[in-house]
Amino acid sequence: MSPSGSEYIKTIRSQIDEVDPADVHGVLNDSVAIVDVRETEEFARGHVPGARHVPRGYLESRIDGVVADRSQRVILYCASGQRSALAANTLINELGFENVQSMTGGYTLWKDRGYDVVIPATLTPEQRERYSRHLLIPEVGEEGQQKLLNAKVLCLGAGGLGSPVSLYLAAAGVGTLGIVDNDDVDLSNLQRQVIHTTDRIGVAKVDSAEQSINAINPDVKVVKYRTRLDASNIMEIISGWDVIVDGVDNFPTRYLLNDASVRLGLPVVSAAILGFEGQLSVFSPYEGPCYRCLFRVPPPAELAPSCGANGVLGVLPGTMGLLQATEVIKLVVGAGDPLIGRLLMYDALAATTTELKVRRDPQCPICSREPSEISDEEMGVFPDYEAFCAAAG
Ligand SMILES: [Zn+2]
Repeated sequence: MSPSGSEYIKTIRSQIDEVDPADVHGVLNDSVAIVDVRETEEFARGHVPGARHVPRGYLESRIDGVVADRSQRVILYCASGQRSALAANTLINELGFENVQSMTGGYTLWKDRGYDVVIPATLTPEQRERYSRHLLIPEVGEEGQQKLLNAKVLCLGAGGLGSPVSLYLAAAGVGTLGIVDNDDVDLSNLQRQVIHTTDRIGVAKVDSAEQSINAINPDVKVVKYRTRLDASNIMEIISGWDVIVDGVDNFPTRYLLNDASVRLGLPVVSAAILGFEGQLSVFSPYEGPCYRCLFRVPPPAELAPSCGANGVLGVLPGTMGLLQATEVIKLVVGAGDPLIGRLLMYDALAATTTELKVRRDPQCPICSREPSEISDEEMGVFPDYEAFCAAAG
């Protein structure tokens, strides 16, 4: 008389070698092939770290692509230990594998024991729709979109440059956006700072920016810093971000940011605007020049834009901010040639762009030395700011 299904499984399990999750946990980093034989949807919901995936239905056709050596130790698992027992039986008795075990209790027991699991990142159907135009370009694709969703980008300033940068990075799906700004929305901002609105005049810029970002893409987490960046807080604020976007409007903060970002090894996408002219570069510490290699000393005070109110064409920060956002996305997904060691200058009136090559300065007071050699006292060293502006008359 033929056995029932459950009797058959019981017999197979008595004939194969079973191993406890604790023992599997102990050999995770060894040269043992851990193979998950569950269905694709089960694997996608979470699996044992480092596990390779061969659904039981494809075992015979795909196992050679995953475990080429039949003498290699193989541990199979499924959800409960039944399918993996049957798969182990196939590998041993039909395919001649020599050292195969099945994990008792499967993935369920593994999780119950509290061992680490890997939840593979996959886009939800809504994300596939939202980012479908990114998925269609190979330079971004699903992998690049995941990188954007996992990226942490810090925008210094929610003003002219910070507005388009953070709006477009939010739309593009950068998962975490930090915003540092101490100001409130003012009527005179609205000619160019498109992240803010007339009904939010008087509201803190970080709160106003967060509202607009959430309205465009609720997936984006906004981290707000309602403060002025200074020597006492800069290291704490900029640590842990992947890319810094420099939209600050004054030289002392620029120098301070440069020195802190070199110490921390963080890339800075920097832009500056005045009148009809904009400049853009990417400072990647030790890979290319830093801001001080380019501007060893600040410009003459009378030319320093931050000493008073300066005019700017309303669309110019939009143009330059979107070039910044573009460089950020390229850095995150690893596509194209970032603007490292190059200074792009845009003249809106003439409608011309000019590019200058910029080299690392071997005598640079900051990046010619190791990060550990740069002291707190040296960071952001700059002529006294009040005196600097007073000299401008
Ligand atoms: Zn330098």
